[in-house]
Order: sequence, then structure tokens, then C-alpha cells
Amino acid sequence: MEKQNVPEIFGTMVFDDRVMRARLSSEVYNSLKKTIDENTKLDVDVAEAVAQEMKEWAVEKGATHFTHWFQPLTGVTAEKHDSFISPSPDGGVIMEFSGKELIKGEPDASSFPSGGLRATFEARGYTAWDPTSYAFIKDHTLCIPTAFCSYSGDALDKKTPLLRSMQALDKQAKRILALFGKKVKYVRTSVGSEQEYFLVDEKVFNQRPDLIYTGRTLFGAMPPKGQELDDHYFGVIKPRVTAFMEDLNTELWKLGILAKTEHNEVAPAQHELAPIFSTTNVATDNNQLTMEIMQKVARKHGLVCLLHEKPFAGVNGSGKHNNWSMATDEGVNLLSPGATPYENAQFLLFLTAVIKAVDEYQDLLRLSVATAGNDHRLGANEAPPAIISVFLGDEITAILDAIKSDAPYEGKEREILKLGVHSLPRFSKDTTDRNRTSPFAFTGNKFEFRSLGSSNSIACCNIMLNAAVADALREFADRLEGVENFEEELHNLIKETIKAHERIIFNGNGYTDEWVKEATEVRGLSNLKTTADAMPHLLDEKNKKMLTGLKVFSESELHSRCEIMLENYCKTVNIEGHTMVDMVRKNYLPAIEQNLYNLAKAVSMMKSVSNQVKCKYEVSTMERLSELTDEILDKVEDLEKALADLKGYDEIIKTSEAIRDDVLPKMEKLRKYVDEAEMLSGEKCWPFPSYGKLLFSVY
Ligand code: ADP
Ligand code: MG
Repeated sequence: MEKQNVPEIFGTMVFDDRVMRARLSSEVYNSLKKTIDENTKLDVDVAEAVAQEMKEWAVEKGATHFTHWFQPLTGVTAEKHDSFISPSPDGGVIMEFSGKELIKGEPDASSFPSGGLRATFEARGYTAWDPTSYAFIKDHTLCIPTAFCSYSGDALDKKTPLLRSMQALDKQAKRILALFGKKVKYVRTSVGSEQEYFLVDEKVFNQRPDLIYTGRTLFGAMPPKGQELDDHYFGVIKPRVTAFMEDLNTELWKLGILAKTEHNEVAPAQHELAPIFSTTNVATDNNQLTMEIMQKVARKHGLVCLLHEKPFAGVNGSGKHNNWSMATDEGVNLLSPGATPYENAQFLLFLTAVIKAVDEYQDLLRLSVATAGNDHRLGANEAPPAIISVFLGDEITAILDAIKSDAPYEGKEREILKLGVHSLPRFSKDTTDRNRTSPFAFTGNKFEFRSLGSSNSIACCNIMLNAAVADALREFADRLEGVENFEEELHNLIKETIKAHERIIFNGNGYTDEWVKEATEVRGLSNLKTTADAMPHLLDEKNKKMLTGLKVFSESELHSRCEIMLENYCKTVNIEGHTMVDMVRKNYLPAIEQNLYNLAKAVSMMKSVSNQVKCKYEVSTMERLSELTDEILDKVEDLEKALADLKGYDEIIKTSEAIRDDVLPKMEKLRKYVDEAEMLSGEKCWPFPSYGKLLFSVY
């Protein structure tokens, strides 16, 4: 690989602040900056001027097209390309792009999921520029990050509610800061998302219909070696993977994505990439782009990047960690303990707001990461359980305990903490974390939400997190504004909040059965195991009230989202079920039959030569394989029936319950018999490459 100058290539494909400052007049730049920072309305003339410069810049970089780039509820990004060309009178073309085209687009929305929001006769939706996320060039196309709405103004995407949730949090956090005498331009949440993925050889991938159709293996006997030696985690990266990672970094850096850390993960063929954190909506756009570019770059290297949460049974699946915090425009992190007693009180207020938010809206956080794929991880001993709890570490927990009970804190000074008066004992960041089993861990100056699946859009969980915290801050501000003795009220509020929500704090091992028992039976925490269990809670009264109250969602948007997410769940499993049937009927059964035939023929031929031969191997294998064939036939017929029965439900909730209770268990049973048959069959007689080939073929 040639030597590269990273600072030079970084962001070369992005219309970022550097480019804007250099190319826009100071008047236009300042006006746009104000829109970006303070959410003011954008002037038409300013949009026109920005569009002109954006086009000039893009054309200089070789772009021929532009697109409004958006995130419909499919979970992936969408784009429709238009070229810049416009006919000129002399028979040629000129390259044109207007302010109007920058601000608003009108893609035909009829084929995107709307969950009943958009009547079919009103096919149009519109996209609206999000100036807070920079435009960029990808594949000779200028991509403009946009929100996507129906004509009646309902959000049909993930960005719109995310931006609304950020606004809600901004408003409430500023109210709180004002109480501490601070006036800031804005408070934004920041996110750094660590992304896990698998790389498999493209040739092997292409021989597996299950991977092609569903992104995960639906069959496959365990190889002799899995992850038991722990030799892959942080291990030496193989040359082909290194080449992929170098190429990937370059592509991401060009797009201004701060790719920072890369390493091997726990399972064979599993890896991770972490960027440096940025503002939540930018981090969300960047994560979508990262997933897309990973897949593209992998193909260039003869590899396929699997983003599924559970591509292989028996080895770890892939997740995503959402590191989250709140910061002011001056870069002050509100979840960083401060230096003065007053700042500490402020820190504790924000900290307890998060604790309260997570406790009150456990179900929303859980359902924000619920997908058919992620259901395979949560609760299996590799990812945090489906139960949401907060890890704070011993030191902060001790501080909160001391406040709660007006008891002396066992720190240096041994005094009763009076918030706003006393300093907090210093605690070191390093002792706060390393509990990998907690779904929601405080890591010194941010929280790490670890329940996300690797293919999840991070928009969903951040919408819920921002909204829930905004709601807690709103309640706090309502109570504290205008009180006579602020310090006393603040102290009482924090104390009461700790008491009311301490059940959500858990510093122990989240993987144990004892925890599940304690969490559900003693603490009353919710344990929503599957998407079918979790998703309907989106429409619980308390959740509707909070989300519509903060104007993050309208009621109809919530209904549509619940519908779409359940539909995604059902469709995903439905495709998996049909893929299994297809593979069994077209490949596995015929292969086993051929195997049986070969064995039978061998036995009869051998016996015709000598009556001394026992044919122990042939006969016993044949007998078991024949039994398995019968079982497989039974189980595939059961599955076919379960899949056919799905058509009988007219409510998506009922369908999702049938998927959970009927289809998924039948898929599992079928797999068991096929996998056993694989172990009894010669490799040459088996129609698809083994787990061993899939997991260990990349050198
Ligand atoms: P680990 O592997 O220990 O979980 P990493 O260092 O790989 O941690 O990832 C931590 C992530 O948290 C990085 O993406 C980092 O940029 C991000 N991060 C650090 N500070 C903040 C913050 N204030 N807000 C949001 N994310 C943050
Ligand atoms: Mg992490």
C-alpha cells in the first residue's frame, strides 16, 4: 500500500466547515452557520448561494449527479440520483443546481414503508435538507443529507424524529443550565458508535443461499474449533483483512468519518471499527455510511462483510456500542464530573436525569434495538440481557448511596455531602468501567449503551434516549425554576430521584440467572425477550404521552412505526423460514438421499463379493441418516404449515406472536436434524460449505 497523507485526504469529499468558510462569502457563511448552530430558518438567497458553491465544488471533484440522501424506515439509506445537466441553447449542456433543489426534493415515496401514514393515492413524499450534517460526494454523486416526510408532514424516516429529540433535549438542558447561571448557545448529544462485523470469503459466501438471502446461516454443524481459545480477540490481523481495513479507513477518512480504532473481535472472522465521537445526527449519518462502505470495500477484496447480529450459531454475534453524552457548544461535557462543588451538583443532576430516564423508559430503550436479528443475541451469554439496567461502578454508587441516606461518604473527608456546598470526592475514570455485561454503563464521562445490534441504525436508540432524558430534565426544570432555596431543593430532588430509581442500578454480572430472577421478581424490571414482546410497548400510554408531549413523534407516527417494525420482524423471519424450506427440499434432502443410495449400493456390492463383510459403518450411518431423513421431512412439513398459517392473521401483532411461538421454534427443530445429518455425511456429499470453511477461510 502506498504511503498516504491522512490530514491531506481527510474530508476531501465533504463540503465541510473548512470548504464553506473558504468558498462562501462571509455573509452567506455566517448566515448558514447560524442556521446550523441555532436552528434559525434559512434564507432563500443564502440557500441559492450555498447551492451554487456546492455544485461548483462537487463538479471540480468529478461529481456529475446529486441526490437527496435519506434514511427511510427500511433501516438502510436511500438515494435517487439526478444529474446536474441542463440543456444550453447551443445544443450542449451546462451544469446546474439551484437553492430549491438543495432544500427540497420530491421522491416518489410509494414504495417506502409508511405503516399506513401515507394514503396510497398520495404517493409523494418530500425530502428536506439537514444543514447540520455536511454534504459529501460518493460515487460521483453529491449526497445531501435530508429528512424524509409525507406531504402531511409526518416523518417517514429516522432522521426527523432524531433531530426532534435533539431539539427537545437542547431545550430542556438549557433550562437546567440556566438554573446554574449558564447561558449556552446549544446543548447537543454526542455519540461514538463501535461497529462489529464479520468478514467471510466471497467465494464461500456465494455458495450459501442462507447467507445470500438472509445474512445469516440457518444451518451448519459446529466446526471442531470455534472461539474457545480466545486466540482471535485482539489477535494479529491477517494480511487480507489488513488490506481491507487500510482501504476502508481511506474511504471513510475521505468522507470525513473519524475512523479511529480497529481490532479483531472474539469470534473467528469477527472485527470491530470505532470512530471518534461526533454530534448524534452526524454520527448516525456516518454510521450508516460506514456500514455501506464496509460492504463495498469488502467486495473489492474478494470478501463479504456480514453485518447481521448472529451470522453463525455457536460463536459470538455482532453488536454495536452507542457511547452517548451531552455537551454544550463550548465543548463542556455535561456528564463529566466538575472541579467545583457547584459543577459537581450540576453533574449529579444530569447523571440522575439519565438514571431516571433509563428506569422510566426501559421498555423504549429495549424496543429501540429490537429486530429479528438482535433477538438472537440479547440474553444469550454474549450480549447484555434483554433486561435494561445501569452500571455506575462502585465509587459513584457509593456517592449516590451517601446522598440518599445523608450518611458520610467513605471517601477521604468522611463528611456528609451537601450538594452545591461540598466537593465530590475525586474518582478515577478507569475504575468506573470494565463490566462488559451491563447494557447501559457509565464509563467516566459518558454512558455506553451496549444492546444495539450490529445492523441497527443508531438513530432509533438515540431518539429514545434523547427524548427520555429530555423528559427527566423537563421535570427537574419545572420543579427547580423559581424556587426560593435552590440548593436545598436541588439536594432534595437528587436524593429523591436516587431513591425512586435505584432499582435500575446494577453493578454485578448481568449474564447470570440470579440476576434475571432478581431483576424481574424483586426489582420489577421488565424483561422483554423478543421483538414481538417489546415492540407493542411503543404504544403504551406513558410512552405515547412522553414522546408526543415532547413533539418527538405524533401519535400516528408512533402507530406507523410500531406497525413497520413488527412487519420487518415478520418479513425477516418469514424469508428465513422459506429459505430453510428451499434449502432442505432442493439441496439437503436430495443430498442425503444420494448419500443413502451410495451407502446402500456399497453395502450390496460388498456383500455380493464376500459374505464376511459387516459393513458396520455403512449400515449404521445409513440407518441413522434414514431416520434423520424422516425427521427432516416431518419438520420441514411442520415449518411449511406454520409459514402458511401466517397468512391467516389480519393483525400484525398476532402474526408476530405466531412467528415467535410457532415459526421460530420449528425452524430451530428442523436445523437440529439437518446439522446432525451434516456430521454423518462426507464433505463431498454435502451441498454447502461448512462452518469451518466460512469462519476460517480468510487468511
Ligand atoms: P471500549 O472499547 O472500551 O468500549 P473505545 O475506546 O473503543 O471503548 O470506544 C469508545 C467510544 O466512545 C469511541 O467511539 C469514543 O469516541 C466515544 N466517546 C468518547 N467520549 C465520548 C463522549 N463524550 N460522547 C460520546 N462518545 C464518546
Ligand atoms: Mg465499547
